[in-house]
Amino acid sequence: MNECLLCGQVFIPRFSFVRTFSIEINDERLCLQCLKKFERLGKDRCPFCDKNMEKVEICSDCRFWQKIYGNNLMKNHSIYRYNRQFHDLMVSYKRYGDYCLHRVLEELSSEHLKNLNFDYYVPIPTSPDHQQKRQFDTITAIYEKIVPLSFFLKKREHTGAQGEKNKQERLATPQGFIVDANQLSEKDISETSILLLDDIYTNGRTLYHARDKLLEIFPNAKIESFAICR
Ligand SMILES: [Zn+2]
Ligand SMILES: [Zn+2]
Repeated sequence: MNECLLCGQVFIPRFSFVRTFSIEINDERLCLQCLKKFERLGKDRCPFCDKNMEKVEICSDCRFWQKIYGNNLMKNHSIYRYNRQFHDLMVSYKRYGDYCLHRVLEELSSEHLKNLNFDYYVPIPTSPDHQQKRQFDTITAIYEKIVPLSFFLKKREHTGAQGEKNKQERLATPQGFIVDANQLSEKDISETSILLLDDIYTNGRTLYHARDKLLEIFPNAKIESFAICR
């Protein structure tokens, strides 16, 4: 029996036959009722960023990016809509620094993420002041057990958090990343594939900045992104 991290209810894990032979047998931390409150994205989506749409068409955010990047838009992979349940989860996790909730986010994303095969998985770094306040890195904590992480990006200090800005301010945010040369070896500078990892895709500003920086070092790389919510 497991205890749900969100509601505290004790529940029977939904493990499959295959999983009974792996160490994953008892790692579920979300009961079915809580899991159902996270709304999966429907099939009609923006082909670039996975935003749910009335029909398959390019969303307004991606049309904005087309003005800057032309045909070179980034493919983003997402699973859930950013609904009330997600909002509350992210407030507890990020604003109040409830570390154990990384297990919920890990559980929500692991199956999908394991099917995305890339050479490198690069987490979007948290600002040093936020990390110090919370004592952990919110993105690393979610993904470190699912895929091997490469810490190619670092955040400049005092650039502020995206969540505290309005839409105009967010889009106007200057480049806030630097490449950590200590993390690169010679074999890295070649044709390769990179998946950027974030929690929420708000309008793409952060992820496009991250891609801009990585392309300076990996000009031939195929770079896509993953965010649990869109
Ligand atoms: Zn629950
Ligand atoms: Zn889009």
